[in-house]
Amino acid sequence: MRIVLVGPPGAGKGTQATRLAEKLSIPHISTGDLFRANISRQTDLGKLAKSYMDAGNLVPDEVTIAMAKDRMEQPDAEAGFLLDGFPRNVSQAEALDELLETEGITLDAVLDLEAPEAEVVKRIAGRRVCRKDSSHVFHVTYSPPAKEGVCDVCGGELYQRDDDSEETVRTRLEVYHTQTEPIIDYYKAQGLVVTIGAMGPVDEVTGRALEALKQDQ
Ligand SMILES: [Zn+2]
Repeated sequence: MRIVLVGPPGAGKGTQATRLAEKLSIPHISTGDLFRANISRQTDLGKLAKSYMDAGNLVPDEVTIAMAKDRMEQPDAEAGFLLDGFPRNVSQAEALDELLETEGITLDAVLDLEAPEAEVVKRIAGRRVCRKDSSHVFHVTYSPPAKEGVCDVCGGELYQRDDDSEETVRTRLEVYHTQTEPIIDYYKAQGLVVTIGAMGPVDEVTGRALEALKQDQ
Protein backbone atom coordinates (compact mmCIF):
# COMPACT_ATOMS: atom_id res chain seq x y z
CA MET A 1 0.00 0.00 0.00
CA ARG A 2 1.31 3.44 -0.92
CA ILE A 3 0.13 6.11 1.46
CA VAL A 4 0.76 9.79 2.09
CA LEU A 5 0.05 10.95 5.62
CA VAL A 6 -0.96 14.56 6.21
CA GLY A 7 -2.07 16.44 9.28
CA PRO A 8 -1.37 19.60 11.24
CA PRO A 9 1.40 19.83 13.82
CA GLY A 10 0.13 18.38 17.09
CA ALA A 11 -2.16 15.81 15.44
CA GLY A 12 0.20 12.97 16.42
CA LYS A 13 1.30 12.37 12.84
CA GLY A 14 4.75 10.98 13.70
CA THR A 15 3.34 8.54 16.23
CA GLN A 16 0.61 7.33 13.88
CA ALA A 17 3.07 7.05 10.99
CA THR A 18 5.30 4.70 12.99
CA ARG A 19 2.38 2.58 14.15
CA LEU A 20 0.64 2.38 10.77
CA ALA A 21 3.86 1.50 8.94
CA GLU A 22 4.40 -1.34 11.38
CA LYS A 23 0.82 -2.65 11.11
CA LEU A 24 0.87 -2.46 7.32
CA SER A 25 4.44 -3.83 7.04
CA ILE A 26 5.65 -0.97 4.88
CA PRO A 27 8.54 1.42 5.53
CA HIS A 28 7.83 4.76 7.16
CA ILE A 29 9.56 7.37 5.04
CA SER A 30 9.84 10.73 6.77
CA THR A 31 11.68 13.74 5.40
CA GLY A 32 13.42 14.22 8.74
CA ASP A 33 14.85 10.68 8.56
CA LEU A 34 15.76 11.12 4.89
CA PHE A 35 17.74 14.27 5.65
CA ARG A 36 19.47 12.69 8.65
CA ALA A 37 20.33 9.48 6.77
CA ASN A 38 21.70 11.27 3.71
CA ILE A 39 23.69 13.72 5.79
CA SER A 40 25.21 11.06 8.04
CA ARG A 41 26.13 8.86 5.04
CA GLN A 42 27.53 12.00 3.35
CA THR A 43 25.76 11.30 0.07
CA ASP A 44 25.88 14.02 -2.61
CA LEU A 45 22.27 14.88 -1.81
CA GLY A 46 23.07 14.94 1.91
CA LYS A 47 25.98 17.32 1.37
CA LEU A 48 23.79 19.53 -0.78
CA ALA A 49 20.97 19.55 1.79
CA LYS A 50 23.43 20.34 4.57
CA SER A 51 24.86 23.32 2.69
CA TYR A 52 21.38 24.85 2.60
CA MET A 53 20.62 24.00 6.22
CA ASP A 54 23.95 25.37 7.44
CA ALA A 55 23.20 28.63 5.67
CA GLY A 56 19.84 28.72 7.45
CA ASN A 57 17.87 28.13 4.25
CA LEU A 58 15.15 25.66 3.37
CA VAL A 59 16.27 22.61 1.42
CA PRO A 60 14.94 23.04 -2.15
CA ASP A 61 12.13 20.76 -3.30
CA GLU A 62 14.32 19.08 -5.96
CA VAL A 63 16.72 17.85 -3.29
CA THR A 64 13.93 16.48 -1.09
CA ILE A 65 12.30 14.81 -4.08
CA ALA A 66 15.56 13.21 -5.19
CA MET A 67 16.06 11.79 -1.67
CA ALA A 68 12.50 10.47 -1.61
CA LYS A 69 13.02 8.85 -5.03
CA ASP A 70 16.17 7.10 -3.81
CA ARG A 71 14.37 5.81 -0.75
CA MET A 72 11.27 4.64 -2.64
CA GLU A 73 13.48 2.60 -4.95
CA GLN A 74 14.92 0.55 -2.07
CA PRO A 75 13.78 -3.11 -2.10
CA ASP A 76 11.84 -2.79 1.18
CA ALA A 77 9.59 -0.16 -0.41
CA GLU A 78 8.55 -2.40 -3.28
CA ALA A 79 5.28 -3.43 -1.64
CA GLY A 80 4.53 0.11 -0.55
CA PHE A 81 5.48 2.92 1.78
CA LEU A 82 4.07 5.55 4.03
CA LEU A 83 5.25 9.09 3.33
CA ASP A 84 5.35 11.48 6.27
CA GLY A 85 6.28 15.13 5.84
CA PHE A 86 6.43 14.84 2.07
CA PRO A 87 4.83 16.20 -0.04
CA ARG A 88 4.32 19.31 2.06
CA ASN A 89 3.13 21.64 -0.72
CA VAL A 90 1.34 21.36 -4.07
CA SER A 91 4.48 21.65 -6.18
CA GLN A 92 6.01 18.72 -4.27
CA ALA A 93 2.78 16.76 -4.76
CA GLU A 94 2.96 17.39 -8.50
CA ALA A 95 6.61 16.32 -8.54
CA LEU A 96 5.70 13.18 -6.62
CA ASP A 97 3.00 12.35 -9.17
CA GLU A 98 5.53 12.69 -11.98
CA LEU A 99 7.98 10.53 -10.10
CA LEU A 100 5.40 7.80 -9.44
CA GLU A 101 4.37 7.89 -13.05
CA THR A 102 7.93 7.26 -14.22
CA GLU A 103 8.08 4.33 -11.80
CA GLY A 104 4.74 3.07 -13.11
CA ILE A 105 3.06 3.14 -9.71
CA THR A 106 0.24 5.11 -8.07
CA LEU A 107 -0.76 6.16 -4.57
CA ASP A 108 -3.51 4.17 -2.85
CA ALA A 109 -4.59 6.74 -0.30
CA VAL A 110 -3.86 10.08 1.30
CA LEU A 111 -4.68 9.79 4.98
CA ASP A 112 -5.71 13.13 6.41
CA LEU A 113 -5.51 13.43 10.20
CA GLU A 114 -8.01 16.00 11.31
CA ALA A 115 -7.59 17.89 14.57
CA PRO A 116 -9.40 21.01 15.79
CA GLU A 117 -7.03 23.96 15.98
CA ALA A 118 -7.82 24.84 19.60
CA GLU A 119 -7.09 21.26 20.60
CA VAL A 120 -3.79 21.19 18.71
CA VAL A 121 -2.64 24.37 20.43
CA LYS A 122 -3.66 23.01 23.82
CA ARG A 123 -1.89 19.72 23.17
CA ILE A 124 1.41 21.28 22.17
CA ALA A 125 1.47 24.35 24.39
CA GLY A 126 0.72 22.18 27.47
CA ARG A 127 3.70 19.92 26.89
CA ARG A 128 6.42 19.97 29.56
CA VAL A 129 9.76 18.25 29.16
CA CYS A 130 12.30 17.22 31.79
CA ARG A 131 15.60 19.11 31.70
CA LYS A 132 17.53 16.01 32.75
CA ASP A 133 16.00 13.60 30.22
CA SER A 134 13.94 14.79 27.25
CA SER A 135 12.18 11.41 27.04
CA HIS A 136 10.37 12.35 30.27
CA VAL A 137 7.39 14.22 28.85
CA PHE A 138 4.31 15.48 30.69
CA HIS A 139 1.28 17.56 29.88
CA VAL A 140 -0.26 20.14 32.20
CA THR A 141 -3.77 18.81 31.48
CA TYR A 142 -3.52 15.29 30.04
CA SER A 143 -0.65 13.81 32.06
CA PRO A 144 0.31 16.24 34.80
CA PRO A 145 3.23 15.39 37.11
CA ALA A 146 2.38 14.71 40.77
CA LYS A 147 4.11 17.95 41.72
CA GLU A 148 3.89 20.94 39.40
CA GLY A 149 7.12 21.63 37.52
CA VAL A 150 8.87 18.52 38.80
CA CYS A 151 9.56 15.30 36.84
CA ASP A 152 7.86 12.22 38.35
CA VAL A 153 10.57 9.96 36.99
CA CYS A 154 13.79 11.63 38.11
CA GLY A 155 12.91 14.81 39.99
CA GLY A 156 14.33 17.03 37.23
CA GLU A 157 12.88 20.43 36.43
CA LEU A 158 10.11 20.50 33.82
CA TYR A 159 10.08 23.25 31.21
CA GLN A 160 8.35 24.28 28.00
CA ARG A 161 10.51 24.03 24.88
CA ASP A 162 10.63 27.12 22.64
CA ASP A 163 9.18 24.97 19.85
CA ASP A 164 6.14 24.27 21.99
CA SER A 165 5.24 27.87 22.83
CA GLU A 166 1.77 28.95 21.76
CA GLU A 167 3.23 31.55 19.41
CA THR A 168 5.41 28.99 17.63
CA VAL A 169 2.50 26.55 17.36
CA ARG A 170 0.30 29.23 15.78
CA THR A 171 3.04 30.06 13.27
CA ARG A 172 3.46 26.37 12.38
CA LEU A 173 -0.31 26.02 11.94
CA GLU A 174 -0.35 29.04 9.67
CA VAL A 175 2.36 27.49 7.50
CA TYR A 176 0.37 24.24 7.44
CA HIS A 177 -2.81 26.04 6.33
CA THR A 178 -1.16 27.99 3.55
CA GLN A 179 1.41 25.45 2.30
CA THR A 180 0.24 21.95 3.08
CA GLU A 181 -3.55 22.03 3.30
CA PRO A 182 -3.93 22.81 -0.42
CA ILE A 183 -2.52 19.36 -1.19
CA ILE A 184 -5.63 17.84 0.38
CA ASP A 185 -7.76 19.47 -2.34
CA TYR A 186 -5.19 18.43 -4.91
CA TYR A 187 -5.55 14.79 -3.84
CA LYS A 188 -9.33 15.05 -3.38
CA ALA A 189 -9.52 15.76 -7.09
CA GLN A 190 -7.86 12.35 -7.55
CA GLY A 191 -10.29 10.70 -5.16
CA LEU A 192 -7.51 9.65 -2.81
CA VAL A 193 -8.30 11.42 0.45
CA VAL A 194 -9.40 9.47 3.52
CA THR A 195 -10.09 11.73 6.51
CA ILE A 196 -10.12 10.54 10.11
CA GLY A 197 -10.34 12.33 13.45
CA ALA A 198 -6.94 12.42 15.13
CA MET A 199 -8.21 13.10 18.65
CA GLY A 200 -8.48 10.47 21.36
CA PRO A 201 -6.23 7.65 22.59
CA VAL A 202 -3.37 6.72 20.25
CA ASP A 203 -4.60 3.11 19.84
CA GLU A 204 -8.08 4.24 18.85
CA VAL A 205 -6.75 6.64 16.24
CA THR A 206 -4.58 3.88 14.74
CA GLY A 207 -7.60 1.56 14.65
CA ARG A 208 -9.71 4.23 13.01
CA ALA A 209 -7.02 4.81 10.38
CA LEU A 210 -6.65 1.11 9.55
CA GLU A 211 -10.42 0.70 9.28
CA ALA A 212 -10.76 3.74 7.00
CA LEU A 213 -7.92 2.53 4.76
CA LYS A 214 -9.49 -0.91 4.50
CA GLN A 215 -12.89 0.50 3.52
CA ASP A 216 -11.19 2.66 0.96
CA GLN A 217 -9.81 -0.37 -0.85
ZN1 LIG B 1 13.03 13.46 34.36
